[in-house]
Amino acid sequence: MTRSWHATVLTIYPDMFPGPLATSLSGQALDKGIWSLTAINLRDFATDKHGSVDDTPAGGGPGMVMRADVVAAAIDHAKSENPDAPLIYLSPRGAPLTQARVRQLSEGPGAVLLCGRFEGVDERVLKARDVEEISIGDYVLSGGEIAAMIMIDAAIRLLPGVVGDDRSLAEESFEQGLLEYPHFTRPRDWEGLAIPDVLLSGNHGRIAQWRREQAQELTKLRRPDMWAKVRGK
Ligand code: SAM
Repeated sequence: MTRSWHATVLTIYPDMFPGPLATSLSGQALDKGIWSLTAINLRDFATDKHGSVDDTPAGGGPGMVMRADVVAAAIDHAKSENPDAPLIYLSPRGAPLTQARVRQLSEGPGAVLLCGRFEGVDERVLKARDVEEISIGDYVLSGGEIAAMIMIDAAIRLLPGVVGDDRSLAEESFEQGLLEYPHFTRPRDWEGLAIPDVLLSGNHGRIAQWRREQAQELTKLRRPDMWAKVRGK
């Protein structure tokens, strides 16, 4: 039997998981065993009786920092359970998450995801355990848990058998370096707005060409950075 894609999440809030991932497509895939999840409580690796995971920042300043020794013990445990999966710290300082990285992750055995809280994690553990840092965007969340859920959701919908029709994945935004074309459905006329005639023509060649042009126009207008890359290919 093939092993399912496995997410191991390190967090001080394990009860947040699977959370919304237990709903809809990801929830059905979880029930079918296409993917699985373990949420490990970082506090279980604390060395004191209070379950402390954080301490004051060296050099002073506001907030608290997650301790290297506690986080390292949790990582070592997680890696022993999910040894081949990449180890990722969700972090606003990380490389921006892309559809290409999500696809790579979905093609692997899973992911070990470290969720920070407070001011973040002691830098030494990131170095000592060779942790990859990934950001889900240029804004700051209060913790890595929601970022981890976003990454898991994006990866598992690419696993075989999760999305009903695989063609919808191939044409999606970012897959070919373009944003997706616009969609329409019934009614044919709505509030004085009609579905473009070409989509009702039954001419598959013309429809495909129209969609390609729309995708290019949208990308040019909304994401000149992506358009420049497509043009540069
Ligand atoms: N002091 C940190 C900084 O300025 O970079 C922010 C810490 S934030 C309040 C707490 C945790 O939320 C981080 O350790 C990280 O795990 C998570 N987090 C916040 N923003 C994120 C983002 N854009 N992408 C991924 N994780 C994020």
